[in-house]
Amino acid sequence: MQKKIPDYFVENQNIKEKTYYKMGGIARYFSTPSNLFEIQQTILWCHSQQLPCSILGSGSNSVYSDENFSGVILSLENLNHWFWETDEYLFVEAGVTNTEIAEICMVANRAGASWMFRMPGQVGASVRMNARCYGGEISQIVKNVLTIDHYGYIKTYTSEEIFQGYKLTTLMHKPEIVVGVRLFFPNKLAAEKLLKHMLICEEDRHKKKHFFLPSCGSTFKNNYSVGKPSGQIFDELGLKGLKVGAAEVSQFHANFVWNMGSAKTKDMLNLTAIMRSKAKKELNAELELEVQPVGLFPKEMYQKCGMENLGPSYENEHGKKWVGLFYYPNSFVTKLFYSNNEFPKILYEGPFFEYFQTPFNGRPDVFVSLCQLISLEDAKKNPAKPFLQWKTFTTDNPNKIFSIPVAEKYGKKNQKFIDELWNFSVSEIFFAHPDKPKTCYLEFEVTPNGEWIAFEFDGVRQRSTQNLQPNLKLWDSLTINNMSIHFHNDKDLRYVFGMNFTFNNLKNVISEQQNFISFQCALSLGYGKYYLSPAWKHVEYSQLKNKKRKKDEILKADFHQPSNFWKLKLF
Ligand SMILES: Cc1cc2nc3c(=O)[nH]c(=O)nc-3n(C[C@H](O)[C@H](O)[C@H](O)COP(=O)(O)OP(=O)(O)OC[C@H]3O[C@@H](n4cnc5c(N)ncnc54)[C@H](O)[C@@H]3O)c2cc1C
Repeated sequence: MQKKIPDYFVENQNIKEKTYYKMGGIARYFSTPSNLFEIQQTILWCHSQQLPCSILGSGSNSVYSDENFSGVILSLENLNHWFWETDEYLFVEAGVTNTEIAEICMVANRAGASWMFRMPGQVGASVRMNARCYGGEISQIVKNVLTIDHYGYIKTYTSEEIFQGYKLTTLMHKPEIVVGVRLFFPNKLAAEKLLKHMLICEEDRHKKKHFFLPSCGSTFKNNYSVGKPSGQIFDELGLKGLKVGAAEVSQFHANFVWNMGSAKTKDMLNLTAIMRSKAKKELNAELELEVQPVGLFPKEMYQKCGMENLGPSYENEHGKKWVGLFYYPNSFVTKLFYSNNEFPKILYEGPFFEYFQTPFNGRPDVFVSLCQLISLEDAKKNPAKPFLQWKTFTTDNPNKIFSIPVAEKYGKKNQKFIDELWNFSVSEIFFAHPDKPKTCYLEFEVTPNGEWIAFEFDGVRQRSTQNLQPNLKLWDSLTINNMSIHFHNDKDLRYVFGMNFTFNNLKNVISEQQNFISFQCALSLGYGKYYLSPAWKHVEYSQLKNKKRKKDEILKADFHQPSNFWKLKLF
């Protein structure tokens, strides 16, 4: 049955109007989520409707088939918030453009992004392909990358886990959407100097006629084993000005293919097939497309353009190939995901963001992870065995971050289960039943030293009768992990603490039929500092808009919003 279309979807979107290259057919559905929750809903909607899905940034490095796209295009155009977490760390959502990042840094006198000025496209796609120009490369400024995979799980990577060299990243062949990027700008430079460099970059692009007509920038990657850039190869082969239909090899840069106005994707790709085969025939140069074709293509076109190098493809019932997809129903990759029975399995790993995302109040030194230790089936058979592991980890001394320790008068010697623990600096996790979140949720709090508390709620902020007073007996078999020291990838020092939950601890908040659970991590560090992971900024925004906040009204953080907790499926 057709489910109701979410209100951030439009039907029958002309793809030409949404891509820099101004080519492509009609998309059956076009989704413009403005937060992580809507992205997850779009993905789960594609699953339920068995529809293919592709990801679109600005469309300056992708070319959509002329055939109609009978699925969902998930566009990141509305995922465009950004804020300075600290003087040095800038968090940007994936839809923020490269040019905006250069401008934001210029205003803040931060060096490192001026080369991005006027490079078309969004930061999400730029990270995916490790974009570079004018001596800069996105890998130089990225600290962490947040993604959502094709089952709606959020992941967080370090820069080292993503970038692999020239226009190569681990994300290029993974079904994951970059949703946010933490950028690091440790050096200051005066705005005038930054602006000067930005204008030099812009002028050079104008000189090379980058913006004269729509193109995708460099059509082919450079193959360094050939000894010269692809543009030079095509120039020497005399291809400048070569045309197929209204697609033409630029007169100014032989690796650019212009859309002269009415070019079809098939014109553009037939032209690139000629360029590729000439380079092979005359110079034995193997060239790979840099532009990403997306959609359904005839097999012949697929082969001529070397699309097999560009990630997985799926053949439809008419022998045509789907390429450039994020999700394809019932594909091998998708099935593999759930049949993988390896444990432990990380269900979530992410940074914390200050509750209101107020500038310069971030804590880039604290992260959280949730890991499934055994299968759900196993956990049901062994309900007192550790099942989910929650870890808070810091990259700086936790005593500096969790700066209000439990006062001695509270903790009698060796007492660890402490009521009103929120008077001190704590890390928290909430779990809710996804189908009845407001009447069935749990809260756990822990400090780096292992003091802890737990509650069960049967209404929002309403403790269930069995724990009107904190009740240690309810949490039998739960284990507390005091602070320990780990090294991530043998390098980064991490101070880790947290809890292990058993199936018995969590069984009331797991949806029986679908095995979903909702969770939310939070930090309450004292002095009015509250943090969330994952973050709900959109909720805050909408509340502010609706309520028309009075001037000087002080907003209070409220973690008890179980309907907004993040939903995930257990294995
Ligand atoms: C005139 C011109 C000049 C250019 N100059 C340069 C240059 O100097 N250096 C350079 O490196 N590039 C250059 N490019 C290419 C382009 O600017 C970059 O590749 C840019 O990163 C593309 O961004 P986009 O948002 O338009 O990507 P799109 O075209 O929308 O997407 C490109 C690919 O990334 C995927 N994708 C998009 N967003 C995401 C996301 N958030 N998560 C995961 N996958 C995603 C898409 O599915 C697609 O496969 C140029 C392009 C043009 C038109």
